Amino acid sequence: MLVLILFGPPGSGKGTQANTILQNYPNSIYISTGDILRENIKKNTELGKLAENYISKGLLVPDEVINSMIQNKFQEINNSNHSKNNKLLILDGYPRSINQLKFLLNLVPINCIKSVYLKLNLEEVIKRIVYRRICLKCNRIYHLIYNKPKNNETCDICNEKLHQRSDDKEEIVINRYNVYMNSTLPILQEFKENNISFLEIDGNQEVEKISQTILNYLKSTTF
Ligand code: ADP
Ligand code: AMP
Repeated sequence: MLVLILFGPPGSGKGTQANTILQNYPNSIYISTGDILRENIKKNTELGKLAENYISKGLLVPDEVINSMIQNKFQEINNSNHSKNNKLLILDGYPRSINQLKFLLNLVPINCIKSVYLKLNLEEVIKRIVYRRICLKCNRIYHLIYNKPKNNETCDICNEKLHQRSDDKEEIVINRYNVYMNSTLPILQEFKENNISFLEIDGNQEVEKISQTILNYLKSTTF
């Protein structure tokens, strides 16, 4: 199984590209740590209550909490025999710290990990996130300028009113970007030191152009 880490600052297009990869590789498994945490907040679980304190401030949820969440997910995948049928596991939003990467390296052989790094600067990150809207029913991701819904703020497919995440406000986005620069970006150096191959992509390009580059990368990779 290949583990593909979608890496990049908040708003760089990880979720958008994950959707395209899933359309092209429908048997793959997708893990978004942010989605799991938001699901827990919605259900008001203990994990959700804890996570909300960090997410609302744009801070990282502590490594031990996230790592044990990932461990549970991997256990679920192994128990369900998923790993035999699914050749691709997409990680979106994990790892986000060196400790998380080290934890992942204990779960997955290093030669089974690859990454796509979507590079984007703060100015564009803010524009991307402040205008991001999501359909909570089908998970489609819109942008009020770059990828507008046809009718006002409703989903083209489900007709549901689109949702704006509560942490997608400018002041929180700036914190999230700073946390990314300080705690997450250093992972790239670890990729280099551990010979984990990663493909750097200019995140300013059009969605379709980026998708094509990622799909070509996957095609050229044996898994
Ligand atoms: P992430 O998962 O990295 O936080 P998203 O995939 O949710 O980022 O994208 C953030 C916002 O930017 C969304 O509103 C999305 O529609 C938009 N977006 C994503 N990729 C691009 C792109 N290449 N060009 C313009 N807008 C984009
Ligand atoms: P995301 O949906 O990836 O933008 O994540 C939203 C928020 O969830 C982040 O700002 C963090 O507070 C939290 N979060 C998601 N993934 C992680 C992670 N791997 N480590 C720590 N916190 C995380």
